[in-house]
Amino acid sequence: MLTIALSKGRILQQTLPLLKKAGLEIADTELNSRKLILDTNLKDVKVIIVRTTDVPVFVQHGAADMGIAGKDVLLEHGASNLFEILDLNIAKCKLMVAAKSAEHLQQNTLKVATKYVNSAKRYFQEKSQPCEIIKLYGAMELAPVVGLSHCIVDLVDTGNTLKANGLIPLEHIEDISSRLVVNSASFKTKNAQIKTWISAIENSL
Ligand code: AMP
Repeated sequence: MLTIALSKGRILQQTLPLLKKAGLEIADTELNSRKLILDTNLKDVKVIIVRTTDVPVFVQHGAADMGIAGKDVLLEHGASNLFEILDLNIAKCKLMVAAKSAEHLQQNTLKVATKYVNSAKRYFQEKSQPCEIIKLYGAMELAPVVGLSHCIVDLVDTGNTLKANGLIPLEHIEDISSRLVVNSASFKTKNAQIKTWISAIENSL
């Protein structure tokens, strides 16, 4: 049995056609159900639906053999015990610093609101910019507007969300896309099966 961890939303929508091309299909009745373990067209492959941020956790501990997660999530998680095998080039965006204006970044201690605590810390540390990180779980764009922080670190795709909230993308931290990750022990014990899937997915890109 091979278990693949996926998350609902953006990644699942863009992953399903790719998996279908590689030979793995999940029926609409399964997808539209409230089930968290989904059957596929293949008896020896099941899909589990977890939160985006939990994909590397399930894969790291071997509860899933493979998974698909955004690079943002992998950077934040630290991604130990798993191999990042393929860049799927889907769900692409950028991790950026945004603020009302560039002047707002000129601070002795920069207040940064983000859910990407580790990535933000690492980025400002490398720039030798002292900062105070304020962890938020959503609606980051609000923070500089109401004076909670000087800037935010968040994902930017079209830039429309920032613009709608009077913010400007100012500094690029990382290019983000979805990655196929594999549990390091599964990679050894289920090597043939996993390698077959990796090539099938690679050929579907
Ligand atoms: P946009 O307005 O197109 O720049 O999109 C920005 C919003 O969508 C932010 O709230 C981001 O957190 C979210 N977002 C954009 N791209 C992605 C992605 N690839 N994965 C997850 N969230 C994203």
